[in-house]
Amino acid sequence: MLKLAIVKMTSCSGCINELLSALLEDDIRANYTLVYSTELVDSTEFREADLAFVEGSVTTRHQEEALKDLRKHVGFIVATGTCALMGGVQSLRAIGDFKPGSGDSHLGQESNEIYREPKPLDQVVKVDYGLPGCPVNADAVKTFLRKYYLGGLPVAIYDAVCSECKRRGLPCVLVAKGTPCLGPVTMSGCGALCPSFGRGCYGCYGLQFHGLNGGKVLSFAERLRELGLPDLDYRALVSAYSYAKIRDLLGGSH
Ligand code: SF4
Ligand code: SF4
Ligand code: SF4
Repeated sequence: MLKLAIVKMTSCSGCINELLSALLEDDIRANYTLVYSTELVDSTEFREADLAFVEGSVTTRHQEEALKDLRKHVGFIVATGTCALMGGVQSLRAIGDFKPGSGDSHLGQESNEIYREPKPLDQVVKVDYGLPGCPVNADAVKTFLRKYYLGGLPVAIYDAVCSECKRRGLPCVLVAKGTPCLGPVTMSGCGALCPSFGRGCYGCYGLQFHGLNGGKVLSFAERLRELGLPDLDYRALVSAYSYAKIRDLLGGSH
């Protein structure tokens, strides 16, 4: 029986719902025991676990310290969801007029530092595996848990949402209707959900940065502008989920 923890940084808990769905599967329940989760288990203090799913991005100094401490007590960390992998929706503060500051901690004992730019987990600690999505896909979590228990890992597939459109035979909303769609630069995994309803992808699985470079991103932005998407909307769309990755690709120019 493997010991499992679910740890929350700054996040909306949407990924935890998907984790719960996976953990209710009979074969997974037989092989894993949840030893820590502030939302699902009546546990008071984290001690150790074989495996930790970490949801959310790091937005305070206290969280950064807690994550470093966690790293010392778990064998394997899974960055769970777009927040954990790329910063997530709270990245909007980095392109808005949010003023970073300090605040009281939960216990009111010690002041905390609040970051302007949320940090993906891998900016703070070594991450062993990542599950993209906002929220993560429960089926992907189940596959991961089943393979991990057997000593393996799912094969990483670096596709964009467009690949899923093609596999499903969906009409391309960008080509057919001129609808702005972030599918070409967004991680696959959702089954092209939005295009299947005739909508453009808004990038919730995060930037498919493998094989991308700043020039390609800027060319794609130009195409979106031609389609009528205002520049500010484009920046909010991409940076809203993947600020840290976009910043790496474009430097300070986005
Ligand atoms: S990735 Fe999305 S669903 Fe998961 S915690 Fe972040 S905002 Fe919520
Ligand atoms: S609809 Fe969007 S995701 Fe689908 S093929 Fe067209 S551009 Fe790609
Ligand atoms: S199509 Fe894009 S916005 Fe819609 S669920 Fe998939 S990744 Fe998220």
